[in-house]
Parts: sequence; C-alpha cells; structure tokens
Amino acid sequence: MEVGCGVRVPFGPRVLQGIVVEVTDKPSFPDTRDVEQLISSSPIISSERIKLALWISDYYVSPIWSSIALFLPPAFERNTLIKPKSIKYLTLVPESERAKSLSAKQHAILELLSESGGRLPVPQILEQLHLGRSVIKTLLAKGLAIEDEIEVSRDPLARRDFPLELPFTFTDNQNLAWRPIVAAISDQDSTANPNLFLLHGVTGSGKTEIYLRALAETIKRSKKGICLVPEISLTTQIVNRFFARFPGRVAVFHSKLSLGEQYDEWRRIQGGDFDIVIGPRSAIFSHQPDLGLIIVDEEHEWAYKQSDQTPRYHARDVAVQLARLTGSTLIMGSATPDIETYYKAVKGEYQLIELKERITPLGSTSLPEVSIVNMRDEFKAGNRSIFSRLLKAQVKLALEQQEQVILFINRRGQSTFVECMNCGFVPSCKRCSGFLTYHSVEKRLICHHCRRAYPVLKTCPNCYSREIKYFGIGTETVETECSKLFPYARVLRFDSDTMSKAREYEKAMNSFRKRETDILVGTQILAKGLDFPGVSLVGIVNADSGLNLPDFRSGERTFQLLCQVEGRAGRGIVAGRAVIQTYNPGYYAIKYAALHDYGGFYESELSYRREFGYPPFTNMVRLVYSHVNEDKCRAEAGRLAANIQLIIDEQGVEGFKLVGPAPAFLSRLRGKYQVQLIILGGNVQNILEKVDFPLGWILDVDPVGMI
Ligand code: ADP
Ligand code: ZN
Ligand code: ZN
Repeated sequence: MEVGCGVRVPFGPRVLQGIVVEVTDKPSFPDTRDVEQLISSSPIISSERIKLALWISDYYVSPIWSSIALFLPPAFERNTLIKPKSIKYLTLVPESERAKSLSAKQHAILELLSESGGRLPVPQILEQLHLGRSVIKTLLAKGLAIEDEIEVSRDPLARRDFPLELPFTFTDNQNLAWRPIVAAISDQDSTANPNLFLLHGVTGSGKTEIYLRALAETIKRSKKGICLVPEISLTTQIVNRFFARFPGRVAVFHSKLSLGEQYDEWRRIQGGDFDIVIGPRSAIFSHQPDLGLIIVDEEHEWAYKQSDQTPRYHARDVAVQLARLTGSTLIMGSATPDIETYYKAVKGEYQLIELKERITPLGSTSLPEVSIVNMRDEFKAGNRSIFSRLLKAQVKLALEQQEQVILFINRRGQSTFVECMNCGFVPSCKRCSGFLTYHSVEKRLICHHCRRAYPVLKTCPNCYSREIKYFGIGTETVETECSKLFPYARVLRFDSDTMSKAREYEKAMNSFRKRETDILVGTQILAKGLDFPGVSLVGIVNADSGLNLPDFRSGERTFQLLCQVEGRAGRGIVAGRAVIQTYNPGYYAIKYAALHDYGGFYESELSYRREFGYPPFTNMVRLVYSHVNEDKCRAEAGRLAANIQLIIDEQGVEGFKLVGPAPAFLSRLRGKYQVQLIILGGNVQNILEKVDFPLGWILDVDPVGMI
C-alpha cells in the first residue's frame, strides 16, 4: 500500500471509499480497524498531489477529506466508479453459409457486413437498417457472426475541427519577455532558478502567444502543461488558439461535461494522453502527469476563488504551490494584476515580466485614448440623456466611418431598482435583506441573492400610491436609447440575461466579429479577453457602480474592470478611443484607468492598504455565521469573537485585529441572518486551528469579496 491508493475501510456499520494519505507503523488513534480492501494497486493520487491537498487543508483551514475530494475522479465519493464507455462490434464469420434459412432482416445484416469489410459497430448496423437488437442475437446464436466490445472514450470535442495555426515570429518585446521564461523551462531541475513568473502585459500585447510558445518548449522536453482560464464558456477564443496550435493534444476540463465524459477525460489525462489541459479553476486538480508548465491566464479574476463551498481555495495560489511541489514553471498573466500578486512580484517572490506595447496588424501601437466625462456637467448643461454629448458624438463618428462600438454598463452593485415616488418604499426580498431588481425579459422583480421572483408592483404596498418608478441603467435602457439616437445602427444586447447559454453567446460573438452588428451593448461579460479588431470605440456608460460598496477592494475592482473594457478598443487597424462617464471624475481608480497607468494605480492603492492595514500587509479571514434567529446569531458571533480574542491574548502575539461581529453587508440571506467577523493578522491559521467552529460557521481565508 502506498500514499495515494484508493481503499475501502469500515466506518461504523458502513464501508466507505477512501484515499491513503500517510503510511505509518503506528496508528495515530488507539482503536483502529483494518483496511478492508485495496481498490487500486497503484496510487490514484500522486504523492505531490496528496501534499498539495494537505497544504489546502492547512492553509484554508478545511477538513482533509474536502481537500482530497478535489482530486478524486468524478463520482468517486458515491462509491461507484463509472464504467468506461464501450461499443459493441459485429464481425462476420467468414465461412458461414448464407443458405441456412435466413430471414430478410438477418440477410440484410450479413449483406451490409460483407460490403463493409466484415466488421461494423452494432449501433451503426441497427441504425442504418432500422432494426432492433433481437436480430443480432439470432445471428449470434446461429454462429453467423461474433460480437466483441471495444473501449472508447466519450470525446466531447471529437466533432470539432480546428485548422492548424503556425506560431508568429516574436516581436522584440516578446523576445525580451521570453528569455527568462525559456531559461526556466530549459533548466527545471535546478531549483536555484526562480520559475514563478508574473507576466504583466497590457491588453493585446501578445501574452497568449508567449503561453503557446512556453507550452511548445515544455512539450519539446517531454513535459506537459495545465492552463487555467477564468471561465471556460467565455474564453473560447484562447481555448481555440490552443486547439489550433496543438491539434488533438488539448483536453478541456469542465463541469458542463456529462459525468461519463468527465470520467473519460480524467482517465485519459491521467494516462498522459494530452500535452495540455485547459479549464477553469478545478482544472488545477487534473492529474496531468510529468507536469512542466502551469499557466494562469487573467490571474486577477475572482472566478479563481471558490467562494461558495469548502475548501474556499484560490486556484492561482494553489497553482503556485503545485508549481513548487513539482518544480514546474508557472506563468501568471494579466493586464491588470491583482495588487497582492504584483506586490509579491515587486518583493521578488515572483519574477516580473512586462509587455508594455500592443501588437496590432500595423505593428506596435499605443493603447486607446480615453476621455473622462463628468456627468454632473452634462446635467448642468441640460443634458438628461444617459449619453453625454461627447459619447453621442463619438458613437456617431464611429458609425459613419463604419467602425464598431462597444457600450459597457457596469452592473456591479447596481441595476434597475424600483421605488415608490410617493413614500420612498423599495421592495425587498422576503428572505434576504437585498432589494429586488426589475427584469424586463421575465417582467418580474427578482432577488439576485436567492433568485426568487416576485410579481411587478402596480401599487405601493405601503401607501397605495401608483407612482412606482423604475430607475437605474440597464442594458435595455441603453439599447432603447441607441435605437432612438442611431436608428440605422444594428444593436445587439449582450448580457447574462440574454446570454444564458454558451452557444448563444458564441453565436452573438461571431455575428459581431463578422460585423453583422454595429453596436454591442453589454455588462461585465464584455470585460473578458475578447478580441474584436473592428471595434474603435468603447463607451463606459456608468463607471461608478460598485464604488461605494463596503469592500476594501472596490477601487481595485473598478480599475481592473475599466482597463479591461477599454482594452477592447483599437485592436485592429483603426486606433482605439474610449469614453468614461462618471460622477466621480477625480476618483483615483478612474483617473489611473483612463491613463492606463497600472504603476500609478498600484502606488496609490498600496499606500491606502498600508494605511488601513489591509492585504497584502496582513492576512485576512472572513468568518460568517448565519441562523434564522437573529438573537442566536448575534450571541453565537459574540461568543466566538470572545473566544478568538482569548486565544490571541493567550498567545501573546502582536499584530492581530478582530473586526466585528457586525451584520454582514447582506444582513439576511434566504431567510437567515448573517453576522460576520474579520480577523486581520500574520499567521491566522495558527489562531484558527485552535478554535472550535460549531455548525453554521463559514470560514474564508483570503476572501476576494467582503459582501
Ligand atoms: P494578449 O494575450 O496579451 O491579449 P495576444 O497574444 O492575444 O495578446 O496578441 C494580440 C494579437 O496580436 C493577437 O491577434 C495575436 O494573434 C497577435 N500577435 C501576437 N503576437 C504576435 C507576433 N509576434 N506577431 C504578429 N502578431 C502577433
Ligand atoms: Zn408608497
Ligand atoms: Zn432573496
């Protein structure tokens, strides 16, 4: 028995499946029972990955089983291993005599078989001749044919075709960036060489091209790679580039595959069938053997953090550990690196590589020119439209020159609210403390926290007034306004309401790329790395949403979002422009985003974080307790806070700070009250492991959001 093997163990009256994490002579508990059965003779999980699971369990203060579970084959916990898929084949017995009294159906099958070289898959025969399985059985009984079974894999991409694409010759900037990376890849056995890279390159600077070359270099050395992308359905462009460059050698790993498909992919990956595995955060747990390279694209994206269940891991930080454990090279890429990642790079923990210029068909160009419009001035000048005069003029100009336009609506923390103009009543969810927002597609009020829908209000339940007003900027408002102002423009709305399905999303993207659409109106979905060469203008209709949220990262979030959206303009031949509409033109995140000044933003942000003692200058844990009873909720949070304070005092360690308990930003969710407690300090794990957490507590180490 080795570490990583699967076993069956008695557990109370039941027998459960488990994984060996340690082999010792002496058991760590007094009454242990024997392992009942070894499921696999060789390890299901490699020893490095067991180490990684233990690190996750320690760092994120989560049970070992929940960390190990991340690495298990699909459906392992259910005590059932999925059967590999197989196909039955029918083979003609050559010397069989046709004369033996045959029915017309039997005859047809033998005929088809002999025409097709004597062997065919059974499903194909049955489909082609419109027959049932009983005919086959008769043939088998008569000895006229034999049947066998062949294992095949449920290949989700079998029917997709990608034309082969050849690599570009690097630009001078890319060559400079490439040198340290190739050095690390070719010298992986010497641990003296730092092999963790932060590739900070502006949008369109050729980062993906570097990933592709790094992978080719890794394959040359008989090693393999994993590439993480924030969200697989929104990143088809980068995935397709991997397919086109490495046909047949790319596995896509995501939860939308059927369980059978997932299992087949899992097995083929572990068997070493692919040079690269691409997928969202869970792909970091794929068992890619001989790992030599890990890529984390758009490393700043919050989608890398699993916030909704234990263990609340961050895939980028798990990738750093995996790279260390396996000696792999790690490339984290972003146009707007996470402040904490950049800080580590500046301190020398990661090697910083910068690409400052864009590559376009005309060579290197600068980033789009960005104007900031103060919407207060527009109002003073008598313009009540959601379009400033500048944005309106720019859109008109772009349309006249047959260029494409993207209009971006920041949805974060804002959408269409409903209010009674007479008494100020705002409808909220009965089970959550959040306000309801109006969805015109469903014609309903919807709670964004629990998705419960309510009928639209005609009269105010508070004062019976009929003066109910809908306000806030939604994509539909912008779409309607566009059709009024630019009646000849073809407008397409592109948000999570209209783009519920990945296929629809892809269709819309293709239509925009083929220039069947002039104006694309959309939300956050547009901030993802889309590359539309026809776009010359980006208008950010409302830059301010989310600025006032009680979250120390709201400035960073705004900056990232604005830079990413601006980055959609000017990727083709025409130079790009962007217009930011705001009521806070002096806000640092907006100012620096307009200048594309990451360095300036970083310095400002860092001094704010230093002043208030936020990460990266400290570690943070968010503890949330929820309960239907508000008093119970408050009491339990108070008890735990006192308990933690006691541990901090006992340890006599300096530099810890306890904030709260206080109601969470969403003080009630799905009928339960929520209280939160924040711990700031150095080694928070040391404190947490001494605390007993009763059921109902959620622990989030390094939370990405405070709401
Ligand atoms: P990023 O990942 O930084 O957004 P990409 O790698 O997608 O940048 O490159 C931006 C555009 O420039 C893409 O259309 C890509 O095909 C092209 N490109 C990248 N590198 C080169 C190169 N060396 N020569 C010519 N075109 C390039
Ligand atoms: Zn009212
Ligand atoms: Zn709700």
